[in-house]
Amino acid sequence: MKLYNSITHTKDEFVTHEPGKVSMYTCGPTVYHFAHIGNLRSYIMEDVLEKFLRYDGYDVKRVMNITDVGHLTSDADEGEDKMLKGAKREHKSVMEIAQFYTDAFFSDCAKLNIKTPDVVQPATGCIDDYIRIITRLLENGYAYPAGGNIYFDTSKLDRYYVFNDHDEEDLAVGVREGVEEDTNKRNKNDFVLWFTKSKFEDQALKWDSPWGVGYPGWHIECSGISMKYLGEYLDLHCGGIDNAFPHHTNEIAQSEAYLGHPWCKQWFHVHHLNTSSGKMSKSKGEFLTVSLLEEKGYDPLVYRLFCLQSHYRNGLVFSWENLGNAKNVYEKLVARVAALDEGGTVDEAAAEPFKAAFKEALGNDLNTSLGVTALYDVLKADLNDATKRALIYSFDTVLGLDLLGRAAALREKNAAPVEGAEEIEALVAARTEAKKAKNWAEADRIRDELKAMGIELLDSKEGTTWKKI
Ligand code: AMP
Ligand code: ZN
Repeated sequence: MKLYNSITHTKDEFVTHEPGKVSMYTCGPTVYHFAHIGNLRSYIMEDVLEKFLRYDGYDVKRVMNITDVGHLTSDADEGEDKMLKGAKREHKSVMEIAQFYTDAFFSDCAKLNIKTPDVVQPATGCIDDYIRIITRLLENGYAYPAGGNIYFDTSKLDRYYVFNDHDEEDLAVGVREGVEEDTNKRNKNDFVLWFTKSKFEDQALKWDSPWGVGYPGWHIECSGISMKYLGEYLDLHCGGIDNAFPHHTNEIAQSEAYLGHPWCKQWFHVHHLNTSSGKMSKSKGEFLTVSLLEEKGYDPLVYRLFCLQSHYRNGLVFSWENLGNAKNVYEKLVARVAALDEGGTVDEAAAEPFKAAFKEALGNDLNTSLGVTALYDVLKADLNDATKRALIYSFDTVLGLDLLGRAAALREKNAAPVEGAEEIEALVAARTEAKKAKNWAEADRIRDELKAMGIELLDSKEGTTWKKI
């Protein structure tokens, strides 16, 4: 497949270290609060990418960390530890907060049909791995102690800003605006590998290390966890676009300095979901969650479809109106799939060009909106219903919209005897009479009465049918 690579800034042919196998790493959530639907946009698109790679025949091993230590309120090593902040907010221990929000994250993922990665590793479980890496970085001159902390020395690198050659200064200033410089740092982009001292109240969880009791910096966890499970050569690394700098930039710096050779070739970054009023932010505490979507009556998979309708490299603006449009599209899709007859024989030869078109769409830098269009192309094609159902099933192993499952549920709902059906039929007949007599007011009144009973009417040339809303 072709995939845009944030390092080369071009769509590259996806090549793996070992043919047919993909080692894939995803930066996981910082579990001090619920994930917002912006975070989940990144995880939805990464899920589609993983599923498409499998669909394309790759054997994928995917690893994700859970950030439960070391991520300070500023990505640039300043401020309080986010976990500690969450624990204080809720009067709980850091471990309780971590467990609660990790469970909440995976529950949201399940609702959005996001597969759990093969390995999920909390950062607090791999302290020895970070200590080993930091020890070598100190030995080979890439790290230095200062003021009780261990820092990575970015001046030792030939090239630090791997993702962005043009706006180096802008990028650095942008992130650091309003942030007090840490005077222990020899260079402004140096970053903490191990903390024993913070200006702020100390982290609750601490471990012994050769440099004193303390805790790891945020970036080291992803290098440590990825190498532990996926080895020295990583094929694909994913995250939201805000992770590119400084997080991924620092991951690359320390991993390559440790390994002495290139580490990960392909970097996949999902652009942000914003609201019309701006960026969605967990740290501000006010944000949209999957539970809120559900409270407002949206199936979480409507949000998944909403994400799939846009390309992952474009910013996406959330509004209830836009989500409402996705809901209409989703319900129509489900209804059309539900209308397909079950049974019959799949015409493999006729299905082939549709499969090829789908693969071409997703294989071209994960064009998910064309993937969704491919569903429509199948539904309106001159194919028998068995073939259509087989194709929808196949595409949905990647898109994850549970179309056949939701369609089966809809059929069941429609087939179930409705309480009070006789009364409903009588009201529908009375409305038909009223319409014949051009008594529009009465016809409307009956429609409203039925609506209040949870019944929707569908008028067509053949007459009026009804369904439960
Ligand atoms: P965090 O829990 O803050 O560590 O973030 C989890 C993931 O969500 C990271 O990959 C971020 O890059 C990503 N992310 C954060 N904000 C957004 C957003 N508004 N839209 C899409 N992805 C985001
Ligand atoms: Zn990471």
